[in-house]
Amino acid sequence: MKHFLILFFTLFALIVKAQAPVPVDYFTSPLDVGLVLSGTFGELRSNHFHSGLDIKTQQREGLNVLSSAQGYVSRINIQHYGYGKALYIQHPNGYTTVYGHLKKFSPEIEAYIKKQQYAKESYEIELFPTASELKVEKGELVALSGNTGGSGGPHLHFEIRDGQQRPMNPKLFGVNVKDSQAPTINSLFVYPLGEDAHVNGSAQRQRIRLTPLNDGSFKTEELNACGNIAFGISAVDKQDGASNNNGIYKIEANLNGDTVFEMNMDRFSFNETRHLNQLIDYEYFSSNKTRITKLFVEPNNPLSVYNKVIDQGVINVEDSLTYLYNIKVIDFAGNQRIIRIPIKGKRPDNVTPRNISKTDYFAQANQAFSAEENGIDVYIPKGSLYQDTYLDIKFMGDTIDFHKDDTPIHTNITVGFDVSKYKPEELEKMFIAQLGYKNRPSYSNTYLKGNRMTTGIRTFGKYTLASDTKPPSISPLNFKSGQWISGNSELKLRISDDLSGIKSYRATVNGKFILMEYEYKNNTLTHDFNDGVVTETENNLKVVVTDNVGNSQTFEATFFRK
Ligand SMILES: [Zn+2]
Repeated sequence: MKHFLILFFTLFALIVKAQAPVPVDYFTSPLDVGLVLSGTFGELRSNHFHSGLDIKTQQREGLNVLSSAQGYVSRINIQHYGYGKALYIQHPNGYTTVYGHLKKFSPEIEAYIKKQQYAKESYEIELFPTASELKVEKGELVALSGNTGGSGGPHLHFEIRDGQQRPMNPKLFGVNVKDSQAPTINSLFVYPLGEDAHVNGSAQRQRIRLTPLNDGSFKTEELNACGNIAFGISAVDKQDGASNNNGIYKIEANLNGDTVFEMNMDRFSFNETRHLNQLIDYEYFSSNKTRITKLFVEPNNPLSVYNKVIDQGVINVEDSLTYLYNIKVIDFAGNQRIIRIPIKGKRPDNVTPRNISKTDYFAQANQAFSAEENGIDVYIPKGSLYQDTYLDIKFMGDTIDFHKDDTPIHTNITVGFDVSKYKPEELEKMFIAQLGYKNRPSYSNTYLKGNRMTTGIRTFGKYTLASDTKPPSISPLNFKSGQWISGNSELKLRISDDLSGIKSYRATVNGKFILMEYEYKNNTLTHDFNDGVVTETENNLKVVVTDNVGNSQTFEATFFRK
């Protein structure tokens, strides 16, 4: 297996290197203001690698977004969450550029989208225009920057994808920013991995003190170790012109002068991105909110960001031998930070063991697992867990306390509740909730089949049967019923639901569908009168909002316009 993996990585490295060189200076910056980054490619995020550059937009919305090269709009995706309003441009050289969290599109594209939204009577929409429909020139205004979807503040999310829709580092194409600062190392950790491995007499993960040297590099004390050990680091990088921390580009490690580990953020695919959970020390992250990049690769980890991995990145320390392990963290501009770690092989007198708590439920990563008790069942498909795990499960009536969220889940685990004791009218309002901080319930996508209510989960924690009998609330924001609002360019309402959450909404004026944009971040629905569908003087507005268990609220009002 070990040899197979080495061969696999070597072959992969060759394949990557053999790919066509990327065109430099083909793509230009998508903004006409200076390029300042709030996020870099491959940055470590929650359950994924960041797939593009986050470009700052001067803390506001509405900046011109320009097509990075000539081509045509090949896809438009508008979602409440995720990329919000997103535009995809296909270029003749086979690459695609992506622009996310947009406020609105250029008049031509906007008109194209609205027509389809009105036809489908839906704000959320996905469109694939043909090559001749929406052609764009290099530098053409295609949209205005915004803050739509899962965006924590105004910025432009910009991606360049290859022909297989794999995101690539835009910096490879010359879309770049000045960077004269070397990366910052936050912390270094050592992991005794083998059965009787130890470092300084302990089998536990340990943080190693870093001593800064005059040349900007770091060294550590000599480690006394034995057996299989490996390292992990937490590091960030800054670019000139902004003080925020961004992700790092490249990490190399060598052992006694030989390169034993190398990874960089040039390209990855979306179907591997969740394996980030194996790149980082997930358990440490869940309690400390700091992501340690492990410089070793465990089984079942298919990430392609590794260029070279010898012996899975593991160092076999033998008694009476000495080793020098160097870690180099390098940013895209080539600035680097080095850590030197001397290691001395020494058999320990006694070792503080690693604490592994064994439970009755042992789930293997490569096999399906199921358990059932007290009317609650769980099913873990093969490959849902990255590692063999002793699960801590408490089946308690209508609640399951399902392990700890320090263990990552790759694909959905099914949790089912026997609901035969409930009456049909009770079941109608019931759903499965995850109990979060202070036991706050949040809706988990719930299915009812016969007497079993199920949900798919991707985080461990407490799940319970909950009930929502209260419909959503709707209130007008910029008008009152009976008012003249000729001066308003928009119609705004606030909608919210206290328990299961909003599932759908629909608005009509005088019985005719009007498009409303839902912004979950401030709970608003907005209609733009420029759509030109509200044409009468007296207008009867009707808004119906439905929550996830089917409770509906209707709001009606009359307003006048001339
Ligand atoms: Zn982004």
